[in-house]
Amino acid sequence: MEFRNLKKQYTVLEKQINEAVHNVMREANFIGGNEIAELERELAEYVGVPYCISCANGTDALELALMAWKIGKGDAVFVPDFTFFSSGEVIADLQATPVFVDVRPDTYNMDADKLEQMIQRVIAEGKLVPRAIIAVDLFGQPAEYNRINHIAEHYGLKILEDGAQGFGGRIEDKRACSFGDISTTSFFPAKPLGCYGDGGAVFLKKQEEYELIKSLCVHGKGKNKYDNVRIGMNSRLDTMQAAILRVKLGAFKQYELEKVNEYASSYSSQLCNWVQTPHVNDTFLSSWAQYVIQLDNREKRDELQKYLKQFQIPSMVYYPKPMHRQEAFKQCDFVYKECDYDITNHICDCVLALPISPYIEENEVDEVSRQVISFLQK
Ligand SMILES: *Cc1c(COP(=O)(O)O)cnc(C)c1O
Repeated sequence: MEFRNLKKQYTVLEKQINEAVHNVMREANFIGGNEIAELERELAEYVGVPYCISCANGTDALELALMAWKIGKGDAVFVPDFTFFSSGEVIADLQATPVFVDVRPDTYNMDADKLEQMIQRVIAEGKLVPRAIIAVDLFGQPAEYNRINHIAEHYGLKILEDGAQGFGGRIEDKRACSFGDISTTSFFPAKPLGCYGDGGAVFLKKQEEYELIKSLCVHGKGKNKYDNVRIGMNSRLDTMQAAILRVKLGAFKQYELEKVNEYASSYSSQLCNWVQTPHVNDTFLSSWAQYVIQLDNREKRDELQKYLKQFQIPSMVYYPKPMHRQEAFKQCDFVYKECDYDITNHICDCVLALPISPYIEENEVDEVSRQVISFLQK
């Protein structure tokens, strides 16, 4: 069994993808061009924002947004303690300070009450200037923007939505990657919308920020790329990847998002009496980057993972280590106290991600569920 069945996706989309790639090679236009412009237009339209800029990966996308806001030394940026490393890395890379915030035990997303407490602590300490919140749409479900927006407004902070796992998710009729002042996503192959290598995108609402990030991702270009008006980076999406993504976005819209939701429901109805299954808030839709269950403790979780492996059922631990305990953040000028991260410390020990994708088969979902239950019955 595959953890995320990308081979099956290729067999289904093979003809269209091969033709799209061949076209790029025939045109010999490998950077920029029509495929990029069309993809950016289609992505912006789907998400429901005026502007989209494609770039080299989801990490660059986050960093470009912080660069556009001139986040740097002495600034505090609030980010969940339970996330992929990138969400905190980009803050430290710009010499700013990541202030980690504990998450909710049900949705795994940033806890708005704890966010507000952390902001107040930073203000009281008076060493750092609170500037922005990076809210992460973890495992496919949007963060609680109704509450986070309020807090951001009250304290005058920007919201950067890290939608690397959230693409396709919704709150009511609004789509993920439209919730931040700036939002970003990743097209890493295993994400809800993945390409065949690295890729990412920035979603924007303001024209000035659009112009600025257009410049930042091509060496801080001015009138052209040999007129350089600021220090930027080289972060572009390959045209080949854009051509592949246009085919995959079609399938994503047509049936993939719906299919993956059916499989997630099937898991939940089979497993909900046995383990803690994912909680999706009312009026929210997840794009199921991961389907994550929670066991009672680390021992049980590790045993279940071993048990499933006997039956060739792959599973993964996202994430085994809280951000505040990562060695890389030791030099940051903020003291992370263990007592502020009870939930993250606990769930890192207890979570397990099961195989899921729009291309898993119903009998595979049944098989995984059966084995999880048989383990718990022992
Ligand atoms: C994958 C991921 C990223 C980084 O994306 P890359 O394209 O791998 O750079 C950032 N944030 C989160 C939450 C992710 O899952």
